[in-house]
This record gives sequence, C-alpha cells and structure tokens, in this order.
Amino acid sequence: MKKVTIQGICYDKKSSFQQGPALAPPLIRQALHSGSMNLFAENGIEINESLILDKGDFTAENYFDIEKITAKHLETSDHIFTLGGDHSITFPILKAFRNKYSKIDILHIDAHADLYHEYEGDPYSHACPFARIMEEGIAQRLVQVGIRTLNTHQQEQAIKYGVEVHTMQQLNLTNISAFNNPLYISLDLDGLDPAYAPGVSHHEPGGLSSRQVIDLIQSQQNPIIGADIVEYNPNRDNQQMTAFLAAKLMKELLGKMLEK
Ligand code: MN
Ligand code: MN
Repeated sequence: MKKVTIQGICYDKKSSFQQGPALAPPLIRQALHSGSMNLFAENGIEINESLILDKGDFTAENYFDIEKITAKHLETSDHIFTLGGDHSITFPILKAFRNKYSKIDILHIDAHADLYHEYEGDPYSHACPFARIMEEGIAQRLVQVGIRTLNTHQQEQAIKYGVEVHTMQQLNLTNISAFNNPLYISLDLDGLDPAYAPGVSHHEPGGLSSRQVIDLIQSQQNPIIGADIVEYNPNRDNQQMTAFLAAKLMKELLGKMLEK
C-alpha cells in the first residue's frame, strides 16, 4: 500500500470575501512538478510515486460530499494529504478521519482562529470549521499558531472549547508542548505573512515566515495522519510565489508524513 494518498478538493463556496481557492489544487501540483525544484523534502525523503498515491482533484457539488470523498480514500489509505480549497473543507475531512481514528490532535496554522459559531448566517463558513470540529469532539487537543485577528467572540469560543491559541503577539514556538495523539496539521496559507504568501484572500500582515512554518512542521515528533494546505487564491498571487511556497510546504508535510 502507498503510504500517503493525495486528494485535491476544488471547493470555495464557503469563502466569505473572495473566491479563488477552488482553482488552487492543480496549480500547486504544477508548481511542485514544474522542474523548478527537486522532490526531496529537507529530511532527505523523496516524494516519489512509490510512496504516494495521487487521486487527483475532486469538485464537490455539496459541502458534505467532501466527507464522502475523504472517507472513500481512507478505506484504502491511513494517511491523506489534501490540497484545498477554502478552509471550510477541514471540518468534513476531519469528520471522515474521526470514523477511523478515535483520538486526533490538531495543529492549526492560520491568521484566523476560524472559531465563529456562525458567519454571515452559515455555520459551515470558512470562518467556522474549528468551532464545528470542537463541538463534535473530534479533536482531543487543538493548537492554533499564527493567530492575529482574535475578537471577543472568538476569544470566548477558544475558552469554551479549550483551544490553545498561540498568537503572533506572544509567539514562542518552543512553548508548544509535544502532541500525544495522532496528529492532523491544517495549514491556512494566510498564517504566513502576506510578504511570503500574497496569494490569499485575506491579507493579514504580521504573520509567520516560511522558515518558521517549515521548522514547526519538522519539529513534530508524533505520527502525522493527515494534513491540508488551504486558502491559496491564485487570483491574488504574484509571480506564482504563493503556489511555489505551497508546493514547498506540501513537500515538507509529505516528507514528514512519510518518516519512519
Ligand atoms: Mn482559516
Ligand atoms: Mn485564515
């Protein structure tokens, strides 16, 4: 069995501000396979076809089709890497994971906590997935890094659900204690500073550097069962630099998932 399955979810119907992330999966693959970079992650593992099964891209007509698509891939693979899509896709993906894994910890990198009870009347908006995930008890532990937009409501939600929020204002990556359960990493590209990642819908200056995100991925010791890269918006990109950043981070995440 191939060690990691890749799925692209071309879905941005839950974006609140701009559309675009539905176009992202093929463009990130294209950057990865453009010949601009080799396929070795920094840990020395090569992301080659003997280890990876790429199922291609899927257009979800209905939001909860994303759960069905993911569940189908989990029938034949223990580890799934997803290219999004807007951040709303992480909730149905994790609903599918929950049926396979009784305990999951989540490392969530983002400018935003995405903890709104509802946003513009939609409880499944891309501003809400981690409220839904915590409500359903899917995560034993949710650690958020890069946050710099907390309002009163989301602060209350974080307390209510016991979320560990590492804001940019007080960031010290060594304060994040080791995870105890199988780990899912959800990477919203707007967690990085827009200087590194201009191709996102919500520019929020004061964010993480590429190196900080790579170090955070590489420092994880627990098995990573799943990961996603979401919110790449090619309509806002500059010289494909965000596509190439996403491809690099994809390579590092896959390299880490394939360790051991
Ligand atoms: Mn997000
Ligand atoms: Mn965000």
